[in-house]
Amino acid sequence: MTELAPYAVAGHNSRGRKIAEEAPQGRSEFQRDRDRIIHSGAFRRLEYKTQVFVNHEGDLFRTRLTHSIEVAQIARSIARSLRLNEDLAEGISLAHDLGHTPFGHAGQEALNDCMKGYGGFEHNLQSLRVVDMLEERYAAFDGLNLCFETREGILKHCSADNAARLGEVGERFLKNRRPSLEAQVANLADEIAYNNHDVDDGLRSGLITLEQLEAVPLVATQLSEARRAYPALPERRVVHETVRRMIGALVTDLIRQSESNIDSHSPATLDDVRSAPALIAYSAEMNEQQRTLKNFLRIHLYRHYRVLRMSTKARRIISDLFGIFMADSRLLPPQFQSQAEHDRARAVADYIAGMTDRYAIREHRRIFAVEELV
Ligand code: MG
Repeated sequence: MTELAPYAVAGHNSRGRKIAEEAPQGRSEFQRDRDRIIHSGAFRRLEYKTQVFVNHEGDLFRTRLTHSIEVAQIARSIARSLRLNEDLAEGISLAHDLGHTPFGHAGQEALNDCMKGYGGFEHNLQSLRVVDMLEERYAAFDGLNLCFETREGILKHCSADNAARLGEVGERFLKNRRPSLEAQVANLADEIAYNNHDVDDGLRSGLITLEQLEAVPLVATQLSEARRAYPALPERRVVHETVRRMIGALVTDLIRQSESNIDSHSPATLDDVRSAPALIAYSAEMNEQQRTLKNFLRIHLYRHYRVLRMSTKARRIISDLFGIFMADSRLLPPQFQSQAEHDRARAVADYIAGMTDRYAIREHRRIFAVEELV
């Protein structure tokens, strides 16, 4: 294995865990973090949480689980090329969506609306709550007791108020400092993964078409190259060939531009990385192209009437559940009751955020369907 860059996160420059533990045997601290994430309950629930398409719409669409695995794959490739800590980039990627509500962004917005007046709801912050507190798997501590750098990477965004409350892990938002390069890589790998798999899923669902996508330069370039190289290829394989080339183009550009940014800022240590501007970035041209694709997806896919219908239903389910548990916390499962005694809204939000799509639908039916008596 090639040696890590001096500014990469490693055991020797890590700020460590909140609760000190013995060093792991036969694996690094960051491998241990990744392994703890994979063994968590919240990770398994990602399988039944919507990315864009609800789970029962088809078996081939991405779920939050397959999305997270794709993010990890892309982040690892980039991290390895840049001699960064691949295990850390992988761990952050696998954990980044652990706090997501059921029903994708519609669910997050609905829960945030319900939580106005109770401190709001933000999925990044919730992911951190999951790994810091909500997982109950270890005898010696609540949560997963992950290393600082893994937790810092999970907390992508944060308001100033929340940052002040969070202590060390929130500090960079108040001091305008950057997280590790591994965290920056995981963040951009997330974007590369969803932009590309949403093109693929969008086409498969028929909500968007290749003809429409020809107006998007990033797609058009790779599409025409794929068609030129394989003129007789069936349409579905043209799509796969185009998407894989798009991922390749984005990853290659990101690596090249980041190498050049690292060269010109020449950080010597992890601390230099934190005080430098964001060094993991696309070239200006590629940045423009990927923004155009993002805009296209927002207008034509995320706001498609069929997606919006699903969002409306999701909002109804979440606000109904929130309302009924706030009105009578005795309806909550026992493990949330004691938390509800001192902070009812947060207990309800934790319960709802942890639900999978199908669990939320069933819970709604159990409570509101009059024909069901249990
Ligand atoms: Mg994501």
